[in-house]
Amino acid sequence: MNSPFYDVIIIGAGASGLVCALECARAGRKTLVLEKESQPARKILVSGNGRCNLTNAHVAPKYYHAPEELIQKTLEKFSFQTCLDYFARLGVLTTEEELGRVFPATGKSTAVAEPLKIALNEAGAELICSCPVVRVKRGKTFTVTAADGRTFQAKKLVLACGSCAYPQVGGTQSGYELARTLGHTLITPRPSLSALCIKETALSRLSGVRCQVRLEARQNNTLLDQAEGEVLFTHYGLNGPAALNVSSSVSRALTKGNVALTLDFFPQLKDPHQFLQQRLATYAKRRPKDFFAGILHESVANLLIDFIGLRKNVPMQDQTPNTRQRLVQTPCAWPLTATGVRPWNEAMAATGGVNTQEINYNTFESLKCPGLYLTGELLDVDGKSGGFNLHFAWASGFAAAQGMTEEK
Ligand SMILES: Cc1cc2nc3c(=O)[nH]c(=O)nc-3n(C[C@H](O)[C@H](O)[C@H](O)COP(=O)(O)OP(=O)(O)OC[C@H]3O[C@@H](n4cnc5c(N)ncnc54)[C@H](O)[C@@H]3O)c2cc1C
Repeated sequence: MNSPFYDVIIIGAGASGLVCALECARAGRKTLVLEKESQPARKILVSGNGRCNLTNAHVAPKYYHAPEELIQKTLEKFSFQTCLDYFARLGVLTTEEELGRVFPATGKSTAVAEPLKIALNEAGAELICSCPVVRVKRGKTFTVTAADGRTFQAKKLVLACGSCAYPQVGGTQSGYELARTLGHTLITPRPSLSALCIKETALSRLSGVRCQVRLEARQNNTLLDQAEGEVLFTHYGLNGPAALNVSSSVSRALTKGNVALTLDFFPQLKDPHQFLQQRLATYAKRRPKDFFAGILHESVANLLIDFIGLRKNVPMQDQTPNTRQRLVQTPCAWPLTATGVRPWNEAMAATGGVNTQEINYNTFESLKCPGLYLTGELLDVDGKSGGFNLHFAWASGFAAAQGMTEEK
């Protein structure tokens, strides 16, 4: 029996695959989407704690680990405003929250996933779920083979398979394998947007405590990354937005050894050293615990007192010069050691993936295999937390469709 023939086959009905399929179908291309899960858009549905932070008003290359030119070109085609207009045209009402994060106004990710599915259907694209693709072959056309033996053919093929992060909602190595068989190379994927494991076990005393901090990550005295925001202390280390936002850089650097972290508990202050120095003068008669009252969480203060070596019942003015000096320095640069990041089933993204040197930055077409397109998180592109990863997924799917359909 002859395999059904399509203009475009897209493997993966996630964020980038759905937008790509929708645009191809709208442009009149006979389009098929193959999805291994029993329903499309599973990651969209769990994203943003079920609220789907779909883009960010501040989207820019600096929020990505990716070549600047790639993100620049992608944003020229699909900017923040394009994204808002795109979802408005799909009938999605959105709302902007703090730090430029945009969510559907209903507060539910279904308000993003459902309109995409409806529009896809209206545009006439075909979607087959529970259909894992196990093999792709490039001849005159592309032949795609599903696990049950069915085959499909197409002029163009899009790998929109996502990364291996969060396997519980479909994350898989499969896209990497398929890309490899078509000639691509990989930058080893590692967990990103994942919490940090910390060597200093005393930190577990703070389990459950949340603080606003500035977090810096260094290796061999070179600054790798920094983030400002909340951290949540856990029994294994650090979670929360600030920890997640340095995790991509930490994850990559950990292959070369541990990463030195510093926590500044006074990110809002211009000169925290001077602030603490002044406070020492003002509250010279206070004992350490009372000295920290009003500026630090009590548990953090207790741990710092032990770490610095302050004598608990001795007024600040009678502490040794060395401990007074440490008191001024440590709360602004508390040294910790990152020994790992939490595993794939806790990681919201992957850093690493298909080498971006092997794609056309305008169209996402493969430079190794003409007619093949690679989009979304399958590529070695990852963003900070705040809507940047979904923005790139939509944008790359959109750019690939444009690349295919504008071709003469
Ligand atoms: C818990 C969580 C929360 C997140 N929250 C946010 C957020 O709020 N904002 C944000 O910007 N980003 C968020 N992200 C990241 C974001 O969801 C992803 O970056 C984005 O979904 C990637 O889109 P994609 O199309 O590349 O891949 P995916 O959305 O993962 O889609 C890939 C699809 O391909 C399918 N597939 C893979 N291999 C095959 C195969 N061989 N055959 C058939 N189908 C296949 C998969 O089942 C999947 O459905 C979150 C991620 C997680 C895990």
